[in-house]
Amino acid sequence: MDAVVVGAGFSGLYMSHRLRELGLSVRVYEKAPDVGGTWYWNRYPGARCDSESHIYCYSFSEEIRREWQWTERYPEQPEILDYLRFVADRLDLRRLIEFETEVESAEFDDGNWTVTTDDGETVDSQFFISAVGCLSEPYVPEFENRDAFDGEWYHTARWPREGVDLDGKRVGVIGTGSTGIQLVPEVAERAAHLTVFQRTPNYAVPARNRPLSDDEWAEITDNYDEIWEDARFSWLGMPFEMKHATTAGLSDEEIEAALEERWQEGGFRFLHTFEDTLFNPETNEIVSEFLREKIRERVEDPETAEKLVPTDHPYGSKRPPMDYNGYYETFNREDVTLADVDENPITEFAPEGIRTTASLYELDTVIFATGFDAMTGALMAMDIRGRDGSVLSEEWADGPRTYLGLGVDGFPNLFTITGPQSPAVLSNMPVSIEQHVDWIADCIEYMRAEGYEYIEPRPEAAERWVSQTNALADQMLFSEAESWYRGANVPGKPRVFTPFPGGVETYRRECERVVENGYEGFELSESLDPPAQSAD
Ligand code: FAD
Ligand code: NAP
Repeated sequence: MDAVVVGAGFSGLYMSHRLRELGLSVRVYEKAPDVGGTWYWNRYPGARCDSESHIYCYSFSEEIRREWQWTERYPEQPEILDYLRFVADRLDLRRLIEFETEVESAEFDDGNWTVTTDDGETVDSQFFISAVGCLSEPYVPEFENRDAFDGEWYHTARWPREGVDLDGKRVGVIGTGSTGIQLVPEVAERAAHLTVFQRTPNYAVPARNRPLSDDEWAEITDNYDEIWEDARFSWLGMPFEMKHATTAGLSDEEIEAALEERWQEGGFRFLHTFEDTLFNPETNEIVSEFLREKIRERVEDPETAEKLVPTDHPYGSKRPPMDYNGYYETFNREDVTLADVDENPITEFAPEGIRTTASLYELDTVIFATGFDAMTGALMAMDIRGRDGSVLSEEWADGPRTYLGLGVDGFPNLFTITGPQSPAVLSNMPVSIEQHVDWIADCIEYMRAEGYEYIEPRPEAAERWVSQTNALADQMLFSEAESWYRGANVPGKPRVFTPFPGGVETYRRECERVVENGYEGFELSESLDPPAQSAD
């Protein structure tokens, strides 16, 4: 093979298409039985994306754009999965993919990657491309006696295809991140009783979902190119304007009006009220307090309301969740209990349910909405060995180190789509995925044209890039939250800020500059030993 691609979600599908168009032989391995990635696995009730549908898709193909029409402002999981299936069929990509096949290891040996799968197959390839996803390795906390529980338990990212019968059950949901917040109102509708185990409250903003009318769709498609160009050169990969640079100089009434306007618009538009929200503690406190008041207004019992109000971290220092179905109002129901497991931590699972330091909660079903080993989990789950036997998991023991989130020094011809230190999860991901895939495909095309066989970041370039990423994160408010952005959710994981926080536009321009300067920071060579001329 010329290239092995791991994963058949948004990234793997587009990557394999681009490479095949370039004339490369490509093999894609996907451990799921179908395409879709995130949208194959996350079938929990209420699963939907927070990016608006017209930008949560591919932009590269006129035909696909013309042949697909989204039905809602934010599409539900089945619709996104249908879309990715449609793309795979439309581009005839399935023939490249081996489903239900997990890549266990990849070793760079004798100038090639040797990739081994869980069915014992081995394939040699010039390029090894990870499209394994930033949020694809579920995290299940190791609670004491978890297996003693007599009921059923599920992780939201491994939700059974046949669904789960929650009707009339006593259900416990652990976790109040984006997933828990989507899930809780849906489960409350079905269960006899719901207990929400909350460790840290969150700031959920109404998404304000609605069907997309034909007129709205026509307006979107008429302006598609401009919308996407704006998204590509934006902060978050979303084509929204900031309302104000900061709160300074505005009257209280003007601040309130700006926040209220964006609150009414809903979703990620709210984060576009003040440009310095993630930098300036004063602005952030105003925004956070606005959100706290909104929670207090919506929850009837003042004691419960205070438990739901976040005070331990600034708004946006964790990934902002969206509320689709009255998350806070759910706690006004008689049949919903909020268990504060920060105050009274979970001590163990018991046959009857979950025991905290305060109570035993009797349950039939437990749902783990406990997130992911994000950014590095799926990548490190593979045994990746580079030049001179270096092992990726050992090289990254103190945190990931990449150049541009695209490559790793010591690992020639390895590309990481939306890898650590790229905007990835701090962006509307299809925009970032298309940018990475295009960059990688263009790079391989350039290598072929110029006769280069190998590409590898220079250690000093990676070092510099990681320092720049960390320095940017330090200027922002991210360090004030125990978030998965910083690896804080998984015990023992290094506390390092993983995505590039400088914005999609800045990042894109840097990637373009690197190419214009002859792949600055990368070593390109015709043979491995001795390295041929450098393009830098
Ligand atoms: P994935 O979709 O994660 O696909 C990776 C694939 O690789 C998976 O199918 C996995 O099975 C496969 N794989 C992994 N390891 C191996 C292996 N060793 N061998 C074989 N196969 C392997 N992003 C947004 O921008 N906006 C949103 O609103 C949004 N909503 C989200 C909602 C949820 C519930 C979740 C979990 C994530 C959401 N995301 C959102 C992030 C989402 O992951 C990305 O938008 C996008 O789907 C990532 O695509 P991907 O192809 O890079 O990775
Ligand atoms: P998450 O944000 O990591 O939230 C996990 C939740 O589980 C947190 O509330 C966490 O509490 C809790 N938790 C973890 N371990 C626990 C323990 N031992 N005891 C008690 N509680 C525990 O995971 P997620 O909600 O699945 O979301 C992950 C990311 O996926 C999101 O940030 C987003 O990027 C993406 N996502 C997007 C959407 C969307 O766009 N619609 C939907 C879902 C997910 P603490 O906060 O105290 O750690």
